[in-house]
Amino acid sequence: MLNQRQKITATEVLPLTCTREGSCCHGNQVLLNPWELALLASQNKLTTKDFKNTFTEDGGIRLKFNGKENKYLKKSCSLYSEEIGCSSHENRPLACRLFPIGRQIQENKSAYFFEGEQFPCFKECPNVTNLKSLKLEDYLKGQKINNHEYAQDAYLEVTQNLADIALTLLLDTNLTNEEQRETIQNWKDLGGFSLEKLTQNTAEEIINIITIPEINVNLSSPNQFIEAHNEMLQLYIQKKYNKSQTKKEIINTCIKAMEMSLLISAAIGANILELSEHWIKTALFHIDKKN
Ligand code: SF4
Ligand code: SF4
Repeated sequence: MLNQRQKITATEVLPLTCTREGSCCHGNQVLLNPWELALLASQNKLTTKDFKNTFTEDGGIRLKFNGKENKYLKKSCSLYSEEIGCSSHENRPLACRLFPIGRQIQENKSAYFFEGEQFPCFKECPNVTNLKSLKLEDYLKGQKINNHEYAQDAYLEVTQNLADIALTLLLDTNLTNEEQRETIQNWKDLGGFSLEKLTQNTAEEIINIITIPEINVNLSSPNQFIEAHNEMLQLYIQKKYNKSQTKKEIINTCIKAMEMSLLISAAIGANILELSEHWIKTALFHIDKKN
């Protein structure tokens, strides 16, 4: 059964003082956007490629949880240390800053929630109820999330830009109705993939330009990095399109643009099935309008 999402308001008071038992650093899923990966690599004095290979899976989109098991037989995050807890606390990703809370963006507004019928910390850290409860807004202030939320929102725009390019290639390149529908079927397949399958399906060149782009800017705030990344990704697709001689190559570029959009969406924790359905609906609307 799917977990229920409980929406929370900023003034809601919840047991948000952590017991520091590290339960959520075991057997969890932590997604990374490319700026977060670059930050963690820099803190660990590694190249992004080496950091990706050592600490992440699914092409650099998810932290590995391959460390020692805890008493619940759950393996620890690759950045977890029994002695000190998170070895990269200063640059931990947004997912870790927010836990046990999640964040979703709907209709350009962000909302906070927690998964499940009971508060996530209760199961493995029941002592959390003995510590001070906090208003959500105060908890968030303490987690220094501004840059990380900015990055999540900015990458959402990057995904929209890439999907817009895919849409333009679909609608404005003289593809026949049948070719358009075949292309849309490919988008649909991509949206139905798990993160693992999506990354396995994607060419290494594309995975690398998404998760470990070579961008040398100051990482302390995400805007320069993500702006440069956005340009780099658009240029990549533009070059692929310029080289396209046949309709088959145009279709392939169109599918790649959507694939890139969905991969980045996955890295920011968006629901790629919903997003692909949204873009398919938009495409079909325009196709039907033309006919
Ligand atoms: S599960 Fe909750 S209380 Fe336990 S370590 Fe994680 S955030 Fe802290
Ligand atoms: S990055 Fe740090 S805080 Fe996040 S799961 Fe790994 S060890 Fe825990």
